[in-house]
Amino acid sequence: MTALPPLPSLKNGQRIVVKIGSALVVDARTASPRQEWLESVAADIAALRSQGAQVIVVSSGAIALARHQLGLTRRVLRLDEKQAAASVGQIRLAQAWTNALSRHGLNAAQLLLTPDDTEHRRRYLNARASLNTLLTLGCVPIINENDAIATTEIRFGDNDRLAARVAEMTTSDQLVLLSDIDGLYTADPRTDPDARHLPVVESLTDEIESMGGAPPPGYSSGGMRTKLMAARIATQAGCAMVIAQGKPLHPLRALWDGGRCTWFLPSPDARSARKKWIGGSLTPAGTLVIDEGAVRALLSGSSLLPAGVREISGDFDRGDLVSVTDMHGQRIAHGLSSYGAADALRIMGRQSDEIEEILGWHGGDEIIHRDDLVMSDRACLPTT
Ligand code: GLU
Repeated sequence: MTALPPLPSLKNGQRIVVKIGSALVVDARTASPRQEWLESVAADIAALRSQGAQVIVVSSGAIALARHQLGLTRRVLRLDEKQAAASVGQIRLAQAWTNALSRHGLNAAQLLLTPDDTEHRRRYLNARASLNTLLTLGCVPIINENDAIATTEIRFGDNDRLAARVAEMTTSDQLVLLSDIDGLYTADPRTDPDARHLPVVESLTDEIESMGGAPPPGYSSGGMRTKLMAARIATQAGCAMVIAQGKPLHPLRALWDGGRCTWFLPSPDARSARKKWIGGSLTPAGTLVIDEGAVRALLSGSSLLPAGVREISGDFDRGDLVSVTDMHGQRIAHGLSSYGAADALRIMGRQSDEIEEILGWHGGDEIIHRDDLVMSDRACLPTT
């Protein structure tokens, strides 16, 4: 039998997405935010940040916070009613997080996303750039689905999958799903006394998938089924995921201290799956020719900066795939360009701190970020 790889731990997390469901944020009795609990989570986030981790929160609760206020108390709401409740409740939700985080000297920053923002390459780059800037400025992004305008066809519908997409988009290394249960069981522990808790899931086999079961009753749209879907997205993207009990105060501290939970290990071929996504089915829409210094930087794992680009050809938009060659035409890499061809031509050869002045906007210091770059197998420095 091969030994299990060491379990991930919150202590090693560098960029952590924490997903928090409506049942944790909202007191069902009063339909108002559980402010003391939110403050305990804010304290945990502050502690994680003091250890050097970046934290992104995906918080539900908008609909649950407003439905009573609007008299929408039926269990199942129509889409337009959910949209209305979300529009009202999101303001309260953001306010509750702002209050909780500000007590720990942290700035909350709100982002409302739709599936297009995480799946369409150009919008994905925009959302990722905003998140990176917010994290650099020391903010805590608080993300929810843009429920007010989300329609059935273009809707995540549950924040488990939204959180996994956010983890993928931000190349986070850990995704924490705070839940009303402390992990995955072989059967539903509320009904089956033989149900066994699984501390770790190495890969998402059919047997594991079958433990998902049906969605739970009540207001939240999650349940174990959407958590397993989230696990597939996150682990395929190279991110470890954990399901942990969230209800008591300081749930992240409990997890840090080794509380009971289920870890889903990142897929060992996650990198190659992403490589396929970038390099595989897409045809490059243009070419960037780079100098020797840039080739050297790319080979050592750095991003491509505009300063190292010498020539540009093709007609591509921000987010399109471009091919990268050296001055002799040798293919070095493939990658998603952070700038369209016209803008790339204007910043080519220039320093990154000049970008804003030249273009009047800033789409990132890199022309291709290293997370969006796939080196070609034969990339090397020219021998001459
Ligand atoms: N985005 C919804 C809300 O804020 C919740 C979705 C979910 O329950 O996962 O109310």
